[in-house]
Amino acid sequence: MIFEGLAEKLQDTFDKLKGKGKLSEKDVKSALREVKLALLEADVNFKVVKNFISKVEERAVGKEVLDSLTPGQQVIKIVNEELTDLMGGAQSKVEYASDPPTVIMLTGLQGAGKTTTAGKLAKKFIKDGKDPLLVAADVYRPAAIKQLQVLGERLDQPVFSMGDKQDPVDITKAAISRAESNGNDVVILDTAGRLHIDEELMDELSQIKAAVVPDEILLVVDSMTGQDAVNVADKFDDTLGIDGVVLTKLDGDARGGAALSISSVTGKPIKFAGVGEKLEDLEPFHPDRMASRILG
Ligand code: GDP
Repeated sequence: MIFEGLAEKLQDTFDKLKGKGKLSEKDVKSALREVKLALLEADVNFKVVKNFISKVEERAVGKEVLDSLTPGQQVIKIVNEELTDLMGGAQSKVEYASDPPTVIMLTGLQGAGKTTTAGKLAKKFIKDGKDPLLVAADVYRPAAIKQLQVLGERLDQPVFSMGDKQDPVDITKAAISRAESNGNDVVILDTAGRLHIDEELMDELSQIKAAVVPDEILLVVDSMTGQDAVNVADKFDDTLGIDGVVLTKLDGDARGGAALSISSVTGKPIKFAGVGEKLEDLEPFHPDRMASRILG
């Protein structure tokens, strides 16, 4: 489960604080040192941790907390609020375009979970009463097209493909025309990934972006890759510009460093979390609920 180690350490630290009754400035500072170490052990970005601790300290080492009847609780409340803020504050949703179809472009490195997420998102949109068109624009990994077709069959939803010999920009343009003529109100573009970020990939994605002008560019990243996921997100945002992140494989990530750093580093929200391999394993990302998971 995500935040396993972090939750345990923070709860220990705060149990000690709560047990003390009145707190001195030294008590709070020493607790925050433990919080800092726990965050670093959870693989949270160093700068993010530094900023976080100084913000919490500024609020927690004041008269209001130290003179309070329940100072331990007050510190926990501040940490809870700041953790929520760190993960983006309010929940951030995918907005439907006023002029359909809403075009969602999924990007990310190979193996991050793009194709799986395309299927999961389609399922969510169907539940919302929409009629999504899945688009196979990953022409470099032939299995990706088949994989998307299988997902489409399971969902009983159309999949647009032109095989693996056409240019992805042409495929995506043709797909939008198909959606318009078929009356699909959402289009989900499954674009190609690579093992690493390279110029060719970024050029192709930029061309698709310019050709179809997506309503949402979502970056799919694997939570288990920790700070690598954060660096990938930062790079994609700088080069392509993203609207949000889908953080996959949260079910296998005990640390949670990416979840705690990505939004703060890129300034872009995490919109969804992948929590398993099945089509229903996609959850809206709620920063406040995530913070509560850490603090118990
Ligand atoms: P793509 O190359 O980015 O299209 O990645 P895929 O969609 O093919 O996913 C790569 C692997 O990750 C597959 O085995 C998926 O089943 C798995 N996967 C994707 N999302 C999740 C998730 O949220 N949790 C878990 N446990 N596995 C996932």
